[in-house]
Amino acid sequence: MSRSRIKAKYDVVVLGAGHNGLVAASYLGRAGLSVLLLEKNDYIGGATTSQKVFPDYNAQLSRYSYLVSLLPEKIIRDLGLKLELRRRATGSFTPYRQNGQHHGLLLSNVDEEVGRRSMAELTGGDREFEQMQKFYHLSRVFAERSWDSMLEPLVGKEDFHRRFNDDDVSREAWRSLTEEPLGWAVERYLQNDLVRGLVLTDAKIGVLTHPHDPSLLQNRCFIYHLIGNKTGEWKVPVGGMGAVARELEEAARRTGAELLTNVRIRHLGLNGTKRSVELDVGGKKENVEARFLLVNFGRNVLAKFTGKPFQPDPTDEGSVFKINMLLRKLPKLKAKKYTAAQAWCGTFHSDEGYEQMNASYACASQGRLPEKTPCEVYCHTLTDDSILGPDLREQGYHTMTLFGLDAPWSVFSRDNVMMRKEAEQKFLASMNQWLEEPIEDCLAVARDGSPCIESKSPVDIEDSLGMYHGNIFHDSLTWPFATAKREVGAWGVETGYENVFFCGSSASRGGAVSGIPGHNAAMKVLETLKS
Ligand SMILES: Cc1cc2nc3c(=O)[nH]c(=O)nc-3n(C[C@H](O)[C@H](O)[C@H](O)COP(=O)(O)OP(=O)(O)OC[C@H]3O[C@@H](n4cnc5c(N)ncnc54)[C@H](O)[C@@H]3O)c2cc1C
Repeated sequence: MSRSRIKAKYDVVVLGAGHNGLVAASYLGRAGLSVLLLEKNDYIGGATTSQKVFPDYNAQLSRYSYLVSLLPEKIIRDLGLKLELRRRATGSFTPYRQNGQHHGLLLSNVDEEVGRRSMAELTGGDREFEQMQKFYHLSRVFAERSWDSMLEPLVGKEDFHRRFNDDDVSREAWRSLTEEPLGWAVERYLQNDLVRGLVLTDAKIGVLTHPHDPSLLQNRCFIYHLIGNKTGEWKVPVGGMGAVARELEEAARRTGAELLTNVRIRHLGLNGTKRSVELDVGGKKENVEARFLLVNFGRNVLAKFTGKPFQPDPTDEGSVFKINMLLRKLPKLKAKKYTAAQAWCGTFHSDEGYEQMNASYACASQGRLPEKTPCEVYCHTLTDDSILGPDLREQGYHTMTLFGLDAPWSVFSRDNVMMRKEAEQKFLASMNQWLEEPIEDCLAVARDGSPCIESKSPVDIEDSLGMYHGNIFHDSLTWPFATAKREVGAWGVETGYENVFFCGSSASRGGAVSGIPGHNAAMKVLETLKS
């Protein structure tokens, strides 16, 4: 959209054009409101973007987020999104050493018996597999009773709790997931350290926490990873995460929403009855008025415009290390029982034993990079190779993504360049212990001779997207219910300023690729207009 076409007034101005801003814009555009989105970056989608990270190669990598579970089918239907979310044949693969031999625990998404047998090889019997199923049944019960409420006004904690009062399993699900530190249930159900660790990783993705964290941050993180569309299954968006952003962008544009990139917001008028935005675009100053402002970026960014200091909680700190790679070939594994494709097409866990992660947490929470760095690795091109050009597909190229845990912002804040390098080496070494050939030898090489690998620390993520201290969910994840009386019946998007609402991950029930806060902010605007 050209700058000269900006109007002086809109019904709604959305600050930031992440996927949640696009969801909000689509709902509001469909309701007949005029909507303008303002984005600081030169692309649309925020953390949901695919980019040609290595310019010499035709490969569109999901640069930040990569898997989808929490995007409600209702939003997909309402907005007419044409998305294919594809199941990965393997759920997870965890390599391990036993009696000097290399093995792997493989949990299949398509054949339960494969997982049962693989678990029996690790533990010597069927019990651990059955216990793991019982453990996951708790989260399934939780998902059944909570998922639909994510697109409704917040229910008070006591009323929410009543949904879990009908039988022993439901009562245990409530207690284990919302009242006790998750570690209690993990330790009660599971005995094997590797299996305990495997389960715990979903409680640690993106946040700095441990099984017995009294803040229960680990429980909230676990819940978000297990309730999506009542199954909690994480699927590969065909065409990469950029396809999700593109569909949402088109949906927003179809409703007449206008989008501006490369915008510098200079001032927000939030007081009194007028909402206004002063911005620079293309070197020119503009002023826009709006009946509603929707805030897609985080509370930390909003605070810079309001002059009120952002007062973060320690649980708001981000903990993530992301490595994007383009490979000439898939690395061979030391464990031989499963093919490389079987092992790499799910979530590949490395150094994620339960006690190992207790040790890595202890180190990271003191601002040091752990000796053994826990991480998971994904090869999405095994499930969807459409993100590669035909020449790369033919030659057997693949993309690979590593998501590192226990890598908090505080480790990188003093010397990001040095620590990024050190962390990259440690995470690659973690992978290499399971490989016949080092991953470095499998990387594609750019024309200038540099390997096709990029790493992003929490500091880099904050610089690119504004996410507070690299927190991939903007700030600490919330419970799916109201925790204070004043929140009951609200949409969880309120900012304290009249007609200014969060529409991104900073809202209650925000975080991850879900569109939920975007939907809820739109509902709040429509409700306000009606009243
Ligand atoms: C490395 C990484 C991996 C992840 N993996 C997954 C995953 O696999 N699955 C999943 O579900 N979730 C994942 N997440 C989390 C998920 O991507 C985010 O929580 C979600 O995309 C946030 O969406 P949003 O629309 O709320 O905000 P954002 O995507 O953060 O969008 C906010 C927008 O505001 C813009 N902005 C910021 N400051 C300004 C300003 N001053 N002026 C104008 N615009 C501004 C930003 O550029 C951005 O475009 C991951 C995140 C990261 C970083």
